[in-house]
Amino acid sequence: MAYLTQPDYVRYICTCGQLKPITSLYFCRHCLKIRCGFCICHEVDSHYCPNCLENMPSSEARLKKNRCSSCFDCPSCYHTLSTRASLVQPRQQEGAGDGKVENKHQKKMYYLACFNCRWTSRDVGIPDQPVASGGWPERPNPFATQINQLLEYYKAIALQEKQEKIEKERKKFAIRGKYLTLTDKTGLTGAMARNIAGLPSSDSGSSSIIAKFVPSQASAEVEELPEDYFTKEVNLNQITSMPQRLLSPEWQPTDVSRLHPIAKLLSVKRSQRCRECDHNLTKPEYNPGSIKFKIELLAFYHIPEVKIISYEPMKAGENSTVLLKLSNPTAHEMTLCLMNPEDIPQVDNEEEQLESSLEKSLTLDKESAPCKPAAAPAWRRTAAPCVRAVGPPVRVAVPQRDDAAEYDDDATHDANDVIVWRKANKLGVRLQVATEAGAARGGAALLALALQYSYRNTVPPAANAPNQRNHILYTTALLSLGNVA
Ligand SMILES: [Zn+2]
Ligand SMILES: [Zn+2]
Ligand SMILES: [Zn+2]
Ligand SMILES: [Zn+2]
Repeated sequence: MAYLTQPDYVRYICTCGQLKPITSLYFCRHCLKIRCGFCICHEVDSHYCPNCLENMPSSEARLKKNRCSSCFDCPSCYHTLSTRASLVQPRQQEGAGDGKVENKHQKKMYYLACFNCRWTSRDVGIPDQPVASGGWPERPNPFATQINQLLEYYKAIALQEKQEKIEKERKKFAIRGKYLTLTDKTGLTGAMARNIAGLPSSDSGSSSIIAKFVPSQASAEVEELPEDYFTKEVNLNQITSMPQRLLSPEWQPTDVSRLHPIAKLLSVKRSQRCRECDHNLTKPEYNPGSIKFKIELLAFYHIPEVKIISYEPMKAGENSTVLLKLSNPTAHEMTLCLMNPEDIPQVDNEEEQLESSLEKSLTLDKESAPCKPAAAPAWRRTAAPCVRAVGPPVRVAVPQRDDAAEYDDDATHDANDVIVWRKANKLGVRLQVATEAGAARGGAALLALALQYSYRNTVPPAANAPNQRNHILYTTALLSLGNVA
């Protein structure tokens, strides 16, 4: 496992052309392709509060503006606030009776406190609450009416545009004369359809909202600054920082005394899908407390991992040796062959196909995606490998993963030219590489290494698909071997 600050020395080329470390890649078992966060669909499964782990449906989350109603963050240091209780004595009991009676009448009152910076809700004069959770006063948004007006206005515009589009489509089909629109077929009128969909019953509603809307006016006159603005000494302890202000955009307090607890933002659990075959690549368990996944097709479990052990300095026009560690994460023996990327047999131009299909789905408009000339894959724009493998291709068999062997200490050392040592599902191999004669000194020495590997698919095939379990797959990794000496 890599440290967070460590650069990625080995990056794989995703099917879409992005360069990613193996830990941020997925492997679709149905298309047998590597996928990354850029070329998969992300879906929100559920909303939950990261503090109290309360789960809520998306409609409720929207209603609560994606915030938890019982958990708060410190407005000063953003740490989670804790609820503290203190005993309060009702005034009329003061001095009367013995200790026991007094205790009876003592009442617990709750306030919010930050254990990190010692901010409390008492600092800003929020009254203590008689209940531990919930019941904290909600501050009304001063711009609520204006925001609601804007929302209504844009909803009306969206509705109008949608209707115009429907009209356009209907005309288009009417000209062709071949197809009936759904409303013609079912005898459903536009008004009825709107009714069923819960939209305003007629266009006049939305058009009147649009007509009535008064847009904000920019004004050249602004409030004057107080007279002592430039002369008064500034006490930075009293003034909020920019992030503190922007944390509550409705109020943007400038004074520390006006900071209010901030309702905690909800987190989401998301599942990810392959864009091509629609199968799930990851699917978390529904329970917010669980960090497990029902489906977790990480590349880390399916494709061979390459690590750099050591390398000789790369000199332009000269050969050097690189020591690599190869591991097979699967439960089946893997034959691995290290080669140059140009030796990968080209089936068809799938890479470009995916790229163009990606672009189409990103622009969402098929008509506007022009037929562009074949471009270099995305990774070529940022990386130019100048080191290549030389000599006969390295072909090795890597045993399957064995969890029990993890505890073994000893590795077997081979006197082999290629294999340096073996240990369970890992191999140390020696690879001869050559640096291009024209490589610039001091430039990054990047080695593009293609991996051919055997893969056994354990997914039961679809009903009429051929039952092929063993596949030969290819992937390319870019290895950073320091700078050209
Ligand atoms: Zn990708
Ligand atoms: Zn919560
Ligand atoms: Zn704090
Ligand atoms: Zn797929």
